[in-house]
Amino acid sequence: MSDLAMNDNLDDNTMIKAPAMEDGNRGLHYEENLLWEKERADRPGVDFPQPEGMKLRTGFEARGDIGLPQNSEPQTVRHFVRLSTWNYSIDHGFFPLGSCTMKHNPRLNEKVARLPGFAFAHPMQPASTVQGALAMMYELQNWLATLTGLPGVCLTPAAGAHGELAGIMTIKKAHEVKGNTHKTVILVPDSAHGTNPATAAMCGYTIRSIPTRETGRLTVEAFKEALGDGNDVAGMMVTNPNTCGLFEKDIMEIADLLHKADGYFYCDGANFNALVGKVRPGDFGVDVMHINLHKTFSTPHGGGGPGSGPICTTEELAPFMPSPIVIKDGEEFHLEEDGERETSCGRLRSFQGQFGMHVRALTYMLSHGGDGLKQVSEDAVLNANYILSQLKDDFYAPFADSPCMHECIFTERLQKENGVTTLDVAKTLIERGFHPMTVYFPLIVNGAMLIEPTETESKDSLDRFITVMKDIANEAKTNGDILHENPVSTPRRRLDEVQAAKEPILRWKDAG
Ligand SMILES: *Cc1c(COP(=O)(O)O)cnc(C)c1O
Repeated sequence: MSDLAMNDNLDDNTMIKAPAMEDGNRGLHYEENLLWEKERADRPGVDFPQPEGMKLRTGFEARGDIGLPQNSEPQTVRHFVRLSTWNYSIDHGFFPLGSCTMKHNPRLNEKVARLPGFAFAHPMQPASTVQGALAMMYELQNWLATLTGLPGVCLTPAAGAHGELAGIMTIKKAHEVKGNTHKTVILVPDSAHGTNPATAAMCGYTIRSIPTRETGRLTVEAFKEALGDGNDVAGMMVTNPNTCGLFEKDIMEIADLLHKADGYFYCDGANFNALVGKVRPGDFGVDVMHINLHKTFSTPHGGGGPGSGPICTTEELAPFMPSPIVIKDGEEFHLEEDGERETSCGRLRSFQGQFGMHVRALTYMLSHGGDGLKQVSEDAVLNANYILSQLKDDFYAPFADSPCMHECIFTERLQKENGVTTLDVAKTLIERGFHPMTVYFPLIVNGAMLIEPTETESKDSLDRFITVMKDIANEAKTNGDILHENPVSTPRRRLDEVQAAKEPILRWKDAG
């Protein structure tokens, strides 16, 4: 192919030659210029004749050049299609981000969510005209109640962090009603996701941290010390399994101690993928938890769609949940009116929540069934333990004395001896065609690499990832300097992330 032909084909873009990639991401990578940088006067998108002798009747001056890019339709279509491929997704390949549960979103969910009766329902329609939609939400409430062992369910929160807010507001309301004004503290383990302390602080609580550093788990001793006499403690926020991928073995004893001090147990349910169908959190003492439908129940995630973070509560706390919930009255369904449940902590957002996500989540539950959901968590845990067992001689695994749950954790300790860091490993994974794992989280593990394969990966894809990770460990030993350079075949190489965050350039300015 001549240079000229290649340029034509690529539409002003530079082709970058990438080496063969282990997971099939071989070949054409494009640099993509801004539409304005592509434009050429001889390729206009629209060609209106100059209006002659026309007077504006609006009283304004005629508009000058408004600076829209001049591109043809095919150029414009290609531009946006190429941009769409820049966002690596679970539909491209393996996505081992720990804590995020990036599993496959079955297309069946999408199909059902697009049924006209669901897709075109309007939130302001009278309840009598959307009985099917309300029945669907009611059914989802029941599934979540059954799976968690927590009978009060409110579907409105729009993300996990929003669910945390809903849950802590529920706890706060319960204490208010009891007259517990002296309870001003929420206990949070130091391994917690940042949204936990942020939520407690937003609700006006003081955070007291429980150290878990040595074992990665909560201990009864550390908990007792943080609890003190318990007089000022309103509750605790604990993720189980926790962010180190470990099940909190002493959780029942800890929940008992908390309850004796009249505190409530908020469980961050982001890691429910390891338990669903196997363990009901209500049975280990949880009073309120949120569920990330976009993690455990496979609704689109991140750039792919809105999240959804319903909360589940005990019977005791249900009166204080946000509204609205779906109520079944005889054979009729309706959404609670504002004020219908006087003890509610209030409304969190407009309407009923992310309805399309509710449809997708229930579709996922119904298509798996109770036994299928149990298999989900068993396979997720098996896959994580397979990776842990295969890589623990190549990367330091701080908690490998016992099996992990749905994610496993390594650190940079062995590679650090040769000057190679977690960041180098992550950037080299990109070079080798894999999305990196979660890095430097949880904060209590220095140079953490948190890997969550999920149940939807085949053994083949896990083996390809393991092979590349072993290669990286070997390269770190023999030729570590090379790893500092990666990635070398991506359109952008290492970015100055600090400058990007502190001085973002958000507007394109015409150089000429
Ligand atoms: C994802 C996650 C959250 C927050 O959920 P969002 O839906 O992203 O708001 C909270 N805690 C943990 C442990 C998580 O992994």
